[in-house]
Amino acid sequence: RIVHLNGEYLPEDQAKVSVFDRGFVMADAVYEVTSVLDGKLIDFPGHMARLARSLGELGIQNPHSDDEWLAIHREMVARNEITHGMVYLQVSRGNGGDRDFVYPPADTPPTVVLYTWQKPQLIDNPAAETGWKVCTLPDIRWHRRDIKTVQLLYPSMAKMEAKARGCDDAWLVENGLVTEGTSNNAYIVKGGAIITRALSNDILHGITRAAVLRFAREAQMTVEERSFTVEEAIAADEAFITSASAFVMPVVEIDGVRLGDGAPGKVSRRLREIYLEESRAAAI
Ligand code: PMP
Repeated sequence: RIVHLNGEYLPEDQAKVSVFDRGFVMADAVYEVTSVLDGKLIDFPGHMARLARSLGELGIQNPHSDDEWLAIHREMVARNEITHGMVYLQVSRGNGGDRDFVYPPADTPPTVVLYTWQKPQLIDNPAAETGWKVCTLPDIRWHRRDIKTVQLLYPSMAKMEAKARGCDDAWLVENGLVTEGTSNNAYIVKGGAIITRALSNDILHGITRAAVLRFAREAQMTVEERSFTVEEAIAADEAFITSASAFVMPVVEIDGVRLGDGAPGKVSRRLREIYLEESRAAAI
């Protein structure tokens, strides 16, 4: 596998990052994950806009223009012969020197890493036929979830706990209200209306979320951007999640309670189809 490190394309075992890197020592880094279908990037401009925002919020310089990022992504897709798969991109604040909470000088070069992996079943994902089971867990993350940092320990712990409970993922809950999944945005459907938490610092502003809500509105579906409780979710007609790697994934069970007949709902299935069709048509 060929990885990208600070402008170079290297075999993975030759890519080396300093032990003083702030990404390693302090999780002082942001990332993006973009899916690739038929060798083309899905929702790419959205991912680069969010990257620029995350970097801006942390005062890390954006090392590349969007055109340069596009060229790097394309090079990675080509060199690794990705048909269906993912591109991971991470930018850290770079080498922090002696351990210090104070940031290193502003001209410290950020560390840029990209790698890819194949995911042949990205579209024909068998999980989309059966849907996910989710378990609710407390959301004890920090309060800037809108910044896509690599500080992912709690989401990882929550995913492990969900798996231990026989679920596919956790829906995180704060003050009785669902925020989002460990690595995806959460939705319920009631009486035909699609309900998902409004954007704020409480959740990541999903790129797939933005596209799916746009397509839903274009298809004359009702969208309500508001918080919902766990009780409301359990009583919903259907539920689903969105992310760059799962696209639209139906949710069929919440905390052991089956939704509807326990099969993926019709709104969720339709949105998955629309999203795949439209996002592939717009892929670059
Ligand atoms: N919320 C969280 C916490 C996430 O980690 C992700 C995916 N990285 C999402 C939502 C979904 O965002 P996107 O659709 O841009 O992948």
